[in-house]
Amino acid sequence: PSLTSAEQAPPERPAEAALRPRGLAEFVGQQVVRDQLSLVLDAATARGRSPEHVLLSGPPGLGKTTLAMIIAAELGAPLRITSGPAIQHAGDLAAILSSLDEGEVLFIDEIHRLARPAEEMLYIAMEDFRVDVVVGKGVGATSIPLDLPPFTAVGATTRAGLLPAPLRDRFGFIGHLDFYAPEELREVVRRSAARLEIEVDEEAAVEISTRSRGTPRIANRLLRRVRDWALVRGSGKLDLAAAREALRVYEVDARGLDRLDRAVLAALCGRFAGGPVGLSTLAVAVGEEIETVETMIEPYLVREGFLLRTPRGRAAAPAAWTHLGLEAPEGPEG
Ligand code: ADP
Repeated sequence: PSLTSAEQAPPERPAEAALRPRGLAEFVGQQVVRDQLSLVLDAATARGRSPEHVLLSGPPGLGKTTLAMIIAAELGAPLRITSGPAIQHAGDLAAILSSLDEGEVLFIDEIHRLARPAEEMLYIAMEDFRVDVVVGKGVGATSIPLDLPPFTAVGATTRAGLLPAPLRDRFGFIGHLDFYAPEELREVVRRSAARLEIEVDEEAAVEISTRSRGTPRIANRLLRRVRDWALVRGSGKLDLAAAREALRVYEVDARGLDRLDRAVLAALCGRFAGGPVGLSTLAVAVGEEIETVETMIEPYLVREGFLLRTPRGRAAAPAAWTHLGLEAPEGPEG
């Protein structure tokens, strides 16, 4: 039988899912969070109870969803996945909560984007395993308390600081994921290459991992792009030349910055003469949402010493000028 186009060209998302580590032992890096989480899970198992609620914070693509899946897998518990933006009304959350099975893991991605009423319902549910279902409208409305089976909430947020304290306090364990070291990303690239059954030489793996913004999702994505380049334009071999060429085509520079990263730095150094400039002004200048700039772009630029967050706004660090090949203006002290 002939293949359908979907079979010939699996879309990116399933490709990502195929590369997800399935157990804590397979999860590369993040030693601290991994040890802490393993303790939480083992203790819960030893006590025969559901583990405490878990909050995972950190920039996108560092493994929060993966860890939520691993938590469920390690507990042998079913997993329900939702997200803050997907829950429009408290009623949506009530429906999810009231249909949870005993011990189920409820993963809420972008939990900081839950609407206030849903947020309040959630923290009561997390604390008391109870949800108040409102029946009827207006003066005739009554609230019926409904007991929930014990469950484990796993929340993910790009910044734990965005969560209101009452909700944050309901989490027994808060794990913070940080950018990965290049050696760790190299390990991710090697494992993914093995899973994809492609051979990548050491130099190429180093090149990909040092240009992946400390982020496994990006490392996996670049690996696939280099594979594509090698297949279509190169010799089929994933070597250093293929990696460099593919990364040039996809506009990933030597420091791993992509077009948007450079646009932010270019706006800062050019239009705003190095800043400081307010976050929202900067976001408008590059045509992006404030949240995108703040959670997806800035953390890596800050960590690499290109961008400074100051009380008066965002400013370009000297490294930003150098990276863009521009002359930094004289500092105040000359
Ligand atoms: P987040 O939820 O933080 O945005 P994900 O959990 O979706 O990130 O991870 C993105 C991809 O990166 C996953 O498909 C997974 O394959 C890979 N990944 C993330 N963390 C790791 C890790 N520690 N080891 C190996 N692969 C990882």
